[in-house]
Formats: sequence, C-alpha cells, structure tokens
Amino acid sequence: MKFARSLTITITILFTLILTVSCSKEQSSDVNSTVDINNETVKAALRAHIEFLADDLLRGRDTGTAEYEIAARYVVSNFKQFGLKPAGENGSWLQTVPFTKSTLDTSTVEMIVHTKDSSLDFDFPKQFMSGASAVSEADEVRGKLVFVGYGIVSEELKHDDYSGLNVKGKIVVYLGGKPASFPSEMGAHLASGSEKRRNAAEQGAIGIIAVHTPLSDKVRTYEKSIPNAGKPSMSWQMKEGGVFGNYSEIKGGAYISKEAGKILFSSAGHDLEQIFTEIEADKVPLGFDMDIEVSFKRQSSHENIVSSNVIAMLEGSDPILKNEYVVYSAHLDHIGDTAHGDEEDNINNGALDNASGVAVMLETARRFSQGEPPKRSILFVVVTGEEKGLLGSNYFAHYPTVPVESMVANINLDMPLILYPFADVIAFGAEHSTLAGFVERAAALQGIKLSPDPMPEQALFVRSDHYSFVKQGIPSIFLVPGWTSKDPEINGEEVFGQFFSKHYHQPSDDISLPINYDAGATFIQVNFDIGQEIANSKSRPQWNEGDFFGDKFKK
Ligand SMILES: [Zn+2]
Repeated sequence: MKFARSLTITITILFTLILTVSCSKEQSSDVNSTVDINNETVKAALRAHIEFLADDLLRGRDTGTAEYEIAARYVVSNFKQFGLKPAGENGSWLQTVPFTKSTLDTSTVEMIVHTKDSSLDFDFPKQFMSGASAVSEADEVRGKLVFVGYGIVSEELKHDDYSGLNVKGKIVVYLGGKPASFPSEMGAHLASGSEKRRNAAEQGAIGIIAVHTPLSDKVRTYEKSIPNAGKPSMSWQMKEGGVFGNYSEIKGGAYISKEAGKILFSSAGHDLEQIFTEIEADKVPLGFDMDIEVSFKRQSSHENIVSSNVIAMLEGSDPILKNEYVVYSAHLDHIGDTAHGDEEDNINNGALDNASGVAVMLETARRFSQGEPPKRSILFVVVTGEEKGLLGSNYFAHYPTVPVESMVANINLDMPLILYPFADVIAFGAEHSTLAGFVERAAALQGIKLSPDPMPEQALFVRSDHYSFVKQGIPSIFLVPGWTSKDPEINGEEVFGQFFSKHYHQPSDDISLPINYDAGATFIQVNFDIGQEIANSKSRPQWNEGDFFGDKFKK
C-alpha cells in the first residue's frame, strides 16, 4: 500500500522451507469446509512463504532488482506445484514490464519567478521540489501564470476550476487537494496528481505549479517530503511508444511550500493567505490570471529497466463461464534497501508489505487447486512496481493477458496485518458494487462480519493495485482484516496505528513481528470463499446503479 533485524536464513533452511511447502499437498480436499485453525499445514506454508520473501537475502524485493526476480521465480515455482497454468505472455508465467527510471540532476534544477522589475530564484528543495522528466534530457520553459483553484474538472460534480480561464501556452498554478465537500474516494480520484496533470494538458498548459496548503499539512507536511526530493521516479513504457502518464506539452513543473506560495502570489499582487482562509471554510477559490512569469530548467537522465508480473490461471469447469475470470492481485515488490550506510539494518523486508499478501494469495491458489474447480476461471496476478505508483498492475490492466471484459472482479491483497485474531474484515470499495454481499457471506462462514471502511478520509480505495482494475471498469475490492479483535486484550485499531507509525516502510517490517498464523489461516479461508462464490455465481458482480466509478469506467 502507498503509505530489520531480520533473521538470516541459510540456504539449507530455505530448502527445508520449500520442502515444507511442497509436502503440504496432502491436506483435506474438502474445500468448502470452514478452516480448521489448527490446520498446521496451512499455517506452516504461510509462515514459509513469508519467511522466504522477507529474508534479508531478497534485499527488500525492489522493482528491477535480481532479488525481486528471485521472489518472482519462487511464486512461479509454487504455482507450478499447485498445477496451475501459466497465463503470462507467450505461454509463459511472466509478463515483462518495461520501465523508464528517470533521475533528476538536482544541480541543474531551477525555478525563477519573473516580475516586471525583478527575478527571484527559488531554493530546491526548501521552497520547491521538481521531478525528473520521463522523456527529455533537458527541459526549459517560461510562461505566464494562471491560478486555477484546485485544478479539478468534474462533470459529475458540476465543478470546473478552468471555467472562464485561458491557460493555453501558460503555466497553471493550483492548490494541492480538493474541496472538503467532495466525497472522499471520488474526490481522491479527481484530486490525484495524474487527473490534475491530465486536465492541465488538455487545457493546453505548458507547465504546472502545485501549492502545498494548510489542509495538505493534515495529510503530510511539505518538510516530510524533502528527503525524497530528487529521488529517481519510474514510469512504464507503452507498447504504442512513449511513457504512460507523460504529457509532452507539459515542459516543467514544481510542487512548492506554503511559504514559497505566499511569495509567488504576493509577487503578483495577490494574497494567498486569504485563499487559504477561504479553503479552510470550504469555499471554492476562483481562478485568475497572475501578471508574472516563471521559468523552469532541469536536466534528467534515463535508464531502461524490466521487472516481471507473474500470472497464473486455474481453469474453470463450466464450458462457457470458464472464459470469464475472477482475478486475485497482490504486489510482490517492496522498497528495497535504503542504504544510508550508518544503520545496522537497511533492508526493508516488507514481511507484511506485502509478503503476507502474496503468501495469502499462494495459499488461496493452493486451496483452489485441491478441490473441484469452480465454474469460472481464477486468475492470480502477482505484480511488480506497486511501491513506485501502482505501475505493474496498471501495466497488466492496460495489457491484460486475458480479454479485459472477461475479468469479472478483482480481489486485491495488500498489507493484510495478520497480527491478532480479527473478528471482522474490511473490504475497501465494497460499497461501490455487489461485491459487498460476497464478502459478507464469506465472512459469515467464519463467524465474522464485514465492517465499513473505518478511515474513509484516507481513500484507500484509490491507493492500491485494485484501482488499476477499477479504471478498466472491473468491480474491485481491497480486502484486509478488520480492527475488531476476538482477544479482549488486543485492540485492532491500536495494532494498525502502531504498525503505521513504527514499521510501515521501515526495516522493522520483518519476520520478527508477531504474525498470528491462525489469523492468517482464517483470512485465507475468507479470501478463498469470496472468490469461490463469485466464480460459481450465475451472474457476474455489478457496479451499483449510479456509482461514480462504475459510470465513469464501465466498458
Ligand atoms: Zn508499501
């Protein structure tokens, strides 16, 4: 999800683990029975997968590394043992994703504000941050500024920040975020950087300045992003040529601090403080021409990188419905080795982000392979590049290895915190489609409930790989254990909060965390039962009538 003192395991132990996994075929083939939490085989297999994937030897499974590919081959090896079929490219298990890794030469990056009688050089990264260009080695652009409010355009909400403004050949200035009155998930989609960039490009802008606001502070302060300034970024290369999400007409841009924003606005005779007061009262600020110019300069270098998605299939039993697929997804990549040189442990093992999700998917796949296949086929999609911006799933969703309209639902597994005996599950996105009913019934089989999203303001529905499937019109959920605990001594919400503050994207997200394998086994069963019912049901899941995401993306 977009939000170690690890055990070093010798090769001998790794082999033992693989043997443990391969020996577990002998478990019950009665796939409809509720899981026996004493099912030592499932628990041992789950543990073995997580221990392997989170081992220091895999160095945090960063996209594009050899260690990531070893993890991918481990997944393939398991799918083969389960008797699944390869469903990648050209009859293989893999889909090779070509990436461009772009690095900004921070010594060359420049943002200058030009007024009638002065020019002001902004400081990188204290006052502004800028990313590398994904396509050109040297960029230079200068243009007049136009303030465009939040830079959002939505027919559904009858909201158009560009209304009455001409930004052709100019640089747009917009506030980060969105009006507070926008519904959370829909708003998160509309206010995403990619949507705002698309709007700017469609309106003919040549540059973008995004302004940090006091409201943005509540999510993440500007200062917190400074250590990441100038870090390389990745994008995937389109088969048609070019890099996805790149607009050649936009030649430069910056993300600026509140203080830099105030200087920028006052240079043009405007008061940003007053606009901040308006947005805090949830008034939508109106745009205007700013009578100043800004110039940007930067140099970028590029590297071609490849990394693999892994795709496997269990063929359905119905002669017609087997041409439709229930899709499980989980990201295998993590953030790698954050070498600063001075710490004892720099390896981000990602035991829970997302070795646990991949392990749950593998054991779900094993369960499917043990009984009668359901009517529809099941597709298991293990993706790369999630931590770089949902890239591997986006690539798969654009170039699926089965027809896009044949995918009836996506169930995504990302960072399931199997750390306590949970008494409920959360399915982000369930309220958008008929998938909610499937989750409710599967949970009920385990005597647990489906709980509503406990943190709608985080808009997690647009923050993991299922979102790539949503944008192709496929009803999707992102399934995690809920915050209710069967153990009165453990508060699920506290465990979640602690994980986020202490271990999320840290080397301590490793195998030393108190993973509860009984909870893991229950989670596997719920996950399996959801897919099993979808795969056997007469009609495929549907978006709810009038749902924003359904209406926007349904094919
Ligand atoms: Zn993550």
